[in-house]
Amino acid sequence: MLEARGLRKNYGALEVLKGLDLSLARGEVVALIGPSGSGKSTFIRCLNMMETPTAGEIRFRQQQVGDRFNDRGTKIGIGKLRRHVGMVFQHFNLFPHKTVLQNVTEGPIIVCKRPPREARELAMDLLGQVGLADKHAAYPNHLSGGQKQRVAIARALAMEPEVLLLDEVTSALDPELVGEVLAVIRNLADKGMTMAIVTHEMAFAADVSDRVLFLDQGVIAETGTSDEVILNPQNPRLQAFVSRFK
Ligand code: ATP
Ligand code: MG
Repeated sequence: MLEARGLRKNYGALEVLKGLDLSLARGEVVALIGPSGSGKSTFIRCLNMMETPTAGEIRFRQQQVGDRFNDRGTKIGIGKLRRHVGMVFQHFNLFPHKTVLQNVTEGPIIVCKRPPREARELAMDLLGQVGLADKHAAYPNHLSGGQKQRVAIARALAMEPEVLLLDEVTSALDPELVGEVLAVIRNLADKGMTMAIVTHEMAFAADVSDRVLFLDQGVIAETGTSDEVILNPQNPRLQAFVSRFK
């Protein structure tokens, strides 16, 4: 459904991504692990074109993503890609002056032009799914970090994405709040949501993902099942990396 082919990204002279390939099938959950600075965020941001790749291509539903049409007119625009590929960040980026409900309805009303009543019904349903229906009238600064992150997930889901990209969504949370957010993601995985998840939670990555990618110095150094990559790593750098989280 979502693919990267030969993806490269440079920042000036710094080569951050050195030719990455990924093919994410419908309903598949891929975990991206790797040391700090290995390019995980850059990679995941390229997947929905928040960063423009230096070379290579992104394909969504077999179509190349880009803003200019090719000869056969088969390119899909970046705006359209972003509508279908949602993203949740480490820092929740909620609108502080809007209530929880308004945060979740904003996208459907403004971007998708859905009638406000319908958007509110959808939002309340999603807030129920993340366990926060009773907080719909609260403002973000009255919520815990875990609650804010669950609102951010509901907000991303309100766009009814086909793929969800998650970049270290529990890294800014106090340890006791991590579990409630992981439970929401686990639930999404069980419902068949297609996801790419950057995480340092090794046990969670092993448990939730169909496939794990180890990114190291801008290349996919290892890929396989969680058994192969996390539980029984063979590559020495991967062994050293994984053992830090045990
Ligand atoms: P972390 O685990 O710390 O989040 P990461 O694997 O997500 O790390 P990236 O954020 O993708 O790593 O960064 C990869 C490299 O690219 C780093 O060396 C970083 O300094 C550099 N980099 C990232 N964004 C930019 C930018 N906008 N301009 C210049 N360099 C950047
Ligand atoms: Mg990062």
